[in-house]
Amino acid sequence: MSFAGNALNLKILYMDTIDWKCLPFGYFKTDYNIRCYNKEGNWGELEESTSEYIELHMAATSIHYGQQAFEGLKAFMGKDGKVRIFRMDENAKRLNSSARGLIMPEIPIETFCKAVIRVVTLNKKFVPPYGTGASLYIRPILIGSGAQVGVRPAKEYLFMVFAGPVGPYFREGFNPVRMQIVRDYDRAAPLGTGNIKVGGNYAASLRAGERARAEGFASVIFLDAREKKYIDEAGPANFFGIKGNSYITPDSVSVLPSITNMSLRVLAEEMGMKVERRHVPVEELEEFDEAGACGTAAVISPIREIVDRLSGKVYSYCKDGKVGPVSLKLYEKLKRIQQGEEPDPHGWNYILD
Ligand SMILES: *Cc1c(COP(=O)(O)O)cnc(C)c1O
Repeated sequence: MSFAGNALNLKILYMDTIDWKCLPFGYFKTDYNIRCYNKEGNWGELEESTSEYIELHMAATSIHYGQQAFEGLKAFMGKDGKVRIFRMDENAKRLNSSARGLIMPEIPIETFCKAVIRVVTLNKKFVPPYGTGASLYIRPILIGSGAQVGVRPAKEYLFMVFAGPVGPYFREGFNPVRMQIVRDYDRAAPLGTGNIKVGGNYAASLRAGERARAEGFASVIFLDAREKKYIDEAGPANFFGIKGNSYITPDSVSVLPSITNMSLRVLAEEMGMKVERRHVPVEELEEFDEAGACGTAAVISPIREIVDRLSGKVYSYCKDGKVGPVSLKLYEKLKRIQQGEEPDPHGWNYILD
């Protein structure tokens, strides 16, 4: 048998060994990533790379002063065998908002989308099959790569996109989680960087997050940093509550504008619900019929219980152990649009040819 034949067989064998149904939400090596360099304010061409590593100056601003931002989005294999990328233009806009926040050069939306389309196309064999619940997670990053020792924005930047298959967040259907309200940590200051997707917010949230996990919770709920009166962010996701026919989600300067939340608000309105974006006082947790966290990774993580770490007060949902009907309906509606199982009236999907 020729070498080429062997290589092909190996490839098929390799593909056969990906257990799509058991993928975690984690890093997975794929074939290609896309890079684009900015020198003195000018973006170069998109470049393909097969390396998982980047060569970075040891004085790069991203690793000293946190001058970096990232995005997260997904591509899905549809029932019709077509690959759909969900709302990438919104991710492009948000990355540019993060770029402005940290004085990094903006990336033309068209360049961002081209890079995403290219990384998905080049790694198409890693898009999990329809019906497995898995998807291709796409991670664009923008980092200050130029050397600087004084605290100043870099003069060189790297925009990069990699992708890899990830499993469904909840393997056996929904698994409502416990969350913990913390009052002794903040993830972001009111006039800080909470509204942009930068690593610094995550760095600031690590201690609270790890402690919560050790204490038996899936995630932390941060309160507004100034008064500790209102619900802010649910760890790496937005919070929402369902009360009667209302979908309620915090309006806060330190919350990251989630594209999932944005989409759920549209769907909720279309379902005849009232959508409220406003301050959500902690005490109101008592009045919700359902509560959840939303983001690209899980779409919706239903919340079973919220414990206020300081007072010990407990708020319970999903009393029968099952996800609430409104959360379930919203979740299914969005999933079906993403997988091409129902019409996409807002043009949220980009369909790969
Ligand atoms: C990314 C992120 C979200 C979710 O945003 P999506 O666009 O829905 O994925 C929510 N909160 C924080 C802090 C985030 O970083």
